[in-house]
Formats: sequence, structure tokens, C-alpha cells
Amino acid sequence: MTARADLPLPSCPRVAGIHAAAASHEWMPVPSTGMTEEGVPFDTLLVDCRAATMVAGGVAYGAIEAAAVGIRDGRIAWIGPEADLPDDAASAHTDVQRLGGRWVTPGLIDCHTHLVFAGDRVGEFEARLNGATYQEIAAAGGGILSTVRATRAASLDQLIESAADRLESLKRDGVTTVEIKSGYGLDRETELKMLRAARALEGRGVRVTTTYLGLHALPPAFAGRADAYVDHVIADILPDVVAERLADAVDAYVEPIAFTPEQAERFFAAAAEHGLPAKLHAEQFSDSGGARLATRIRALSADHLEYADEAAVVAMAAASVVAVLLPGAYLALRETRPPPVDALRRHGVALAVAPDCTPGPSPLTSLLAAMNLGCALWRLTPEEALAGTTRAAAQALGLAADRGTLEAGKRADLAVWDVSTPAELSYWLCRSRLWRRYLGGVVS
Ligand SMILES: [Zn+2]
Repeated sequence: MTARADLPLPSCPRVAGIHAAAASHEWMPVPSTGMTEEGVPFDTLLVDCRAATMVAGGVAYGAIEAAAVGIRDGRIAWIGPEADLPDDAASAHTDVQRLGGRWVTPGLIDCHTHLVFAGDRVGEFEARLNGATYQEIAAAGGGILSTVRATRAASLDQLIESAADRLESLKRDGVTTVEIKSGYGLDRETELKMLRAARALEGRGVRVTTTYLGLHALPPAFAGRADAYVDHVIADILPDVVAERLADAVDAYVEPIAFTPEQAERFFAAAAEHGLPAKLHAEQFSDSGGARLATRIRALSADHLEYADEAAVVAMAAASVVAVLLPGAYLALRETRPPPVDALRRHGVALAVAPDCTPGPSPLTSLLAAMNLGCALWRLTPEEALAGTTRAAAQALGLAADRGTLEAGKRADLAVWDVSTPAELSYWLCRSRLWRRYLGGVVS
């Protein structure tokens, strides 16, 4: 997978030490001082700013007042107090940018989306609010299968362009990395088409990771034959996903209305043979064993978790499985049972937050709104919400060595904000205070 790209190690022993630490300890303290490789100035130097590095274990938000960020070859080469900048930091060729005292954070990471699909579910949204029941909507061909039909009928270009429109909304929220799942094809041709569309979005000013959501729902052609469908996915679709290198991970929906833990485990075992890590939709509507499966197979993350019990939380902590909290679906479905945030916090499970952008139960295209909802609905702190869309979100994608905090060696994917404090990012509902985004050190 593209995930753990090797970090270039500079020749300077002191900086090399910092890089080695960054690679082995994900939450290393921010170096208060730094030095450049001898005689090699930065390509870009950001000064007159404040940095919320989101490095854990120190001050709130890992904050550095009066900070400077040195960027070389698309990566952060140095970060610390501006007063500690090395003498050789800049040359005549260094682009020195003053940020007017604004806050710099890691570029935000949306670690759970279903961004690629065709059509929408506006009709059934309105019908439901006019009194139609779920059974009536299903009988009229609504629900997930209506999205499957529309997605099968759409061309690759139509999928790319409709998703690109939603992607712009995320970019306006400072997102620099987005995960995109397949799962609305439920057949070989359409699942591959969705993943190709997701890969194509990589060129739209954002980094994309893709997830083959092989077990999302049972297609009508396999009604009553879920095990046969799992066999089909493993034998006939997964090998092509792998051959075309279309996925960085795999996912399954574990619920009585979808697939059992045993079926998901069979799929994950097949994917693991191809080196693909797992993510799960787990415990959204019932305690079905998804979170325990996630810990057993060392999944990257278990997502939703409203019905996870404390034993599952303890196991997740031991196995370093990230909890991805999805308040958009909870809100839109008017759920009343919150995920066990206190237990997750008490046992030290990393908490990520995402909008879960889907056409059905979570038509939410704002990561900042998801942060606000996490705070408003589940009492996350603003610092937890921001960690949930930076540090923990990177961990949920297996990318923590490469992004998610502002540290030497990581990608210079940054967001610059017109806010008074980092807490303001979670304060507004539907108001982005983004001033500028950097992708690989370049304004994007
Ligand atoms: Zn989802």
C-alpha cells in the first residue's frame, strides 16, 4: 500500500535523530529547537504564525506560539519557535511567507467517506418526512439499492465529477487527505469503477486513500445466499482490486442486516493475504461482535461503535484499534444511544471523527461540522475533535508516520486558519475559517 512511505533521512546527525524518533514514536515531543542540513536552506519558510502541532503528551494542542515552519522537498524539515530558527534557514531562494499570526494545523484528514456514488436519496428523505414508512420506501425501490442502481448506471466520468463536487466542500474545510470507500456497486464491474473514480480524484488537490468496501450490503441476485456472495467477493472481485492496485484497505459492514463477524473475518483473511489492512463498520445498531473482530484481526479502525460495550473498548485499546466516531449518521437517523466516549477515553483508545458522507443516512460533506457535532452531541473536547481529524485520523488510515501532526519529516500538508484559538474550529457549525491550504508545501 502507499501508506507508510519511507521518510527521507537527512544527513545531519541531530536532525536524523529527530526523524528516527518520528518514525518509531508517533507522538514524539516537538523539538523546541532545530537545525537545517548544513548549507541547505528551506524551500519555503512560514513565519509569524502559531502552530497547533497536535503532537500528544505536551501542552494543549501541542501548541507553539510565535512559530516557524521550514519546508523542504514537500516535507516539514523544521518546526519550532521562530526565535530558535537556525541561521542558515533561509537563502535568497527561500520563499519566506508571513502568516499574520494565524494558526497552522496539520491538513485535516477525513478518514471515513462514501464520497463516490451516483444519484441521491432526496426523494425518500422527503417521502419519509411526509409520513412514508421504511417498508413503503423499500417497496418503492428506495434505500441503498436505489443508490446501487444509479451507481451501476453512471459512467466513470459522471462518478468522478459528482464526487469532485462534494470533495470541494471538504477541501474548503482544510481537508488534505480523504479516504473514499466503494460499496455501492455490489458487482465486480461497478466496485472497480468506483475505486477507479476514487483514485482519479487524487489529482484534484487532495491526497486520496481508497477502501474496498466489499461487504456493504447483499445484492438482490444473492438474496438469502450471503455466504455465496462472500465467496464471490473473495474469488472474483478482490483479486482484480488487488491486481489494479485500487485499494489501500478493505472494509465490511457487520450487523444482522448486513454480514456476520464470521463472514467479514473470511473476507479480511483473504485481503490480508494480499497485504490489505481492514476497517469495519461495527456496532452501529447492535452489539454484533464487530469491535471484537476488529481487535482479533488488528484492524486499523472500528467505525460507529454506538453499541460497543466496555469489554470491547478494553480490547480495542490493547490492540491499538482506532475508534472512528460518525456523528452525521447518528444525527440524521435520530439515534439516541451515543458511542461509549467516556470508556474509550478512559482506556486510551484513539478517537477519530468523520462525517461519513453517504447519500442515505449521512448526507454530511463538512468535516468541521462533524467536529462540532462530536462536541455538541457526545461532549468531545475541541482538542479531541481536532486530534480526531488529524493525529487519530491518520492512525485510522495507517498513515501516522507520514502525516497527522506537524513534525519534522512529515508531509507539509497544512491548513492555516483565521481563528483566535484552535477550539474555534469546533465552535462554528457550518462556517469554515480556512485561510489557506498547503499540499506538500505548496499553496493548493
Ligand atoms: Zn460508512
